Amino acid sequence: MAKTEVKAPEKEVKTTSANGKSSKAGAKTEVSVAEKLVELYRLQHIDTQKDKIRTQRGELPLEVEDLEDEVTGLETRMTKLQSELEEMEGQVTEKQNLIKDAKAQIKKYEGQQAKVRNNREYDSLTKEVEFQNLEIQLSEKRIKEAKAQIDGKKEVVAESKAKYDDRKKDLEQKRKELDSIIAETEKEEKDLTKKSEAASKLIETRLLDAYNRVRGGARNGLAVVAVERGSCGGCFNAIPPQRQLDISSHKKVIVCEHCGRILVDEYVVERVTGEK
Ligand SMILES: [Zn+2]
Repeated sequence: MAKTEVKAPEKEVKTTSANGKSSKAGAKTEVSVAEKLVELYRLQHIDTQKDKIRTQRGELPLEVEDLEDEVTGLETRMTKLQSELEEMEGQVTEKQNLIKDAKAQIKKYEGQQAKVRNNREYDSLTKEVEFQNLEIQLSEKRIKEAKAQIDGKKEVVAESKAKYDDRKKDLEQKRKELDSIIAETEKEEKDLTKKSEAASKLIETRLLDAYNRVRGGARNGLAVVAVERGSCGGCFNAIPPQRQLDISSHKKVIVCEHCGRILVDEYVVERVTGEK
């Protein structure tokens, strides 16, 4: 219902709403403005198809990137954990060697004690043996502590490894998905890029700049939109009836007063979508 409201006045408007324009030049610009709008809408139509391909890829490129970062991070973490583990194991070996040495010392002192000639020498050797025994006890305590830490660390390593394997598998799968989507759509995207470039060449610089500016700023990539049920097809704000008439009259390029998008009527839409 509303659609016909927008479309129908097209012819009447030509003569009735002479919005400050000389009627002589009016007839001439009328055609060219309509053509300009068709060209603009055609470009939008092509670019929208390109946008759809990107949407199809969706979050995949980002997801792949994030996973790559995560996998690299986990690799670094695992290398660090592994070297920490090796260091701890090295400490255990060191203490074990210390115990071995202490035991050898004790044996030596005990052998010497059998040959001493006085009590003073004997007591001094007894003190040495005691000291070595303390060393052994301390080392054993340190080994016990280190082994507990090593067990904990090994668990962390195993967890990291499981996480790493998991993410790596995810990454490979997402990468495969992305590659196949890219392979599927690459040709189509290239064709559309060529078409978009060709369509851009037909549009005067001033309008093309405006188009690119609005398109760049719009989240949905729409710079040229149709009037839909009396509202802007981009921001959905209502368009005053007089403005709707102006749009249908194709006398000048009219933008939405709310979002700045270029507005076209059904005639322009049909000219473009009816192509091919
Ligand atoms: Zn709008």
